[in-house]
Amino acid sequence: MSIPDSSFLPDAGLEQAIALLRQSPVAWSALPQALPENGMGENATLAQLAPHVFGKAAHLDDPTAIAHMDPPTPWITWAMALWNASLNQNLLHAATSPFATEAERLVIDWLIPFFGMSGGHLCSGSTLANLTALWAARDARGVKKIVASEVAHLSIKKAARLLGLEFVAIPVTPSGQLDPVQLGDLTHACLVLTAGTTATGVIDSLALVGQAAWTHVDAAWAGPLRFSPTYTHLLNGIEAADSVSISGHKWLFQPKESALVLFRDVAAANGAISFSGGYLASPNIGVQGSRGAAAIPLLATLLAWGKTGLVDRIDRTMAMAQQLANNIQAEDSLTLWAMPTTGITVFRSQQQTADDIFAALPTGMLSTCVLQDEMWLRSVMANPMADIDAIWAHIQRVISA
Ligand SMILES: *Cc1c(COP(=O)(O)O)cnc(C)c1O
Repeated sequence: MSIPDSSFLPDAGLEQAIALLRQSPVAWSALPQALPENGMGENATLAQLAPHVFGKAAHLDDPTAIAHMDPPTPWITWAMALWNASLNQNLLHAATSPFATEAERLVIDWLIPFFGMSGGHLCSGSTLANLTALWAARDARGVKKIVASEVAHLSIKKAARLLGLEFVAIPVTPSGQLDPVQLGDLTHACLVLTAGTTATGVIDSLALVGQAAWTHVDAAWAGPLRFSPTYTHLLNGIEAADSVSISGHKWLFQPKESALVLFRDVAAANGAISFSGGYLASPNIGVQGSRGAAAIPLLATLLAWGKTGLVDRIDRTMAMAQQLANNIQAEDSLTLWAMPTTGITVFRSQQQTADDIFAALPTGMLSTCVLQDEMWLRSVMANPMADIDAIWAHIQRVISA
């Protein structure tokens, strides 16, 4: 006979969890330093934990938060995260995720035409998406080395190490793009082009797509620009790539952990990155085994907003990056690194160090980056609710102090 256990059933505590989310309590009391012998129960746990979880969080929806690639998330994704956790579907087996598997297929089918790809899957971040793509490049096409610009994301070098492939770093031009003149023989290489470098948001020349045995475009950051009629041209050429990575948890406003790895020839790629096990009804594709239904929050966001709603948010952040850059350019004491191409604005002061300015600004407003051994201030416009006037007032206060 089954023993009812209320911990596994929907409970009024869930409404309490939402009430606490609305209040975002901040006054916390210490947590036990060792594993508690006896539990305090769910309701007491909510009360104990909420001040820690909310009170000690970085608030990505703050009007001055434009520091990192981590966006605030729309509430429809919070609802889907709750539903997902309650169902705990496993994308490893269609039997344990009937709708979640269908949802993933649907989302992939909706998005692949923008990138000229034929399929793919979700994984928990672009680090894994890149590793998956480079694994396919090695085993489907036999590439012997990975070639990328010296400012490619560290996950590319990490993937090369894990795959036992040589990593070749190509210097960048003064504008931050991989310098094509310095590319050697690519006959047995996987060329990785970055669409939105981590520090400055630069897009490597996508005219280089197709010049190597395999071309992967790491569009973790800037991939979503493809959906915007205003900015889609920035990614022209991506459709000829062999594989593309895009982070959902960056400019698609998804909760972690959400990324897409897409392939031009998905059958060939999947053939190279699949394992069968006696207990699996179908082969396990990709790096992860068990994985959750990250497609459902993405599906819900795309249903709720449509393409237009998504593009509105992306375009709004692009316009704010431009406004910030214009303000910086008009300010004599500041130097703009370059006009932002993908929502990332990099600048510094001629009088104060980047460290000093950073320390005097509100926490979480900007970040810093090092370019050619020099420290710069950096803003990543992933927050559609940012207030550029308020941000600019902070910057002016600090630089005129
Ligand atoms: C963020 C980023 C990654 C890594 O993605 P995660 O989701 O953090 O694993 C890879 N490449 C680029 C260009 C990125 O911006």
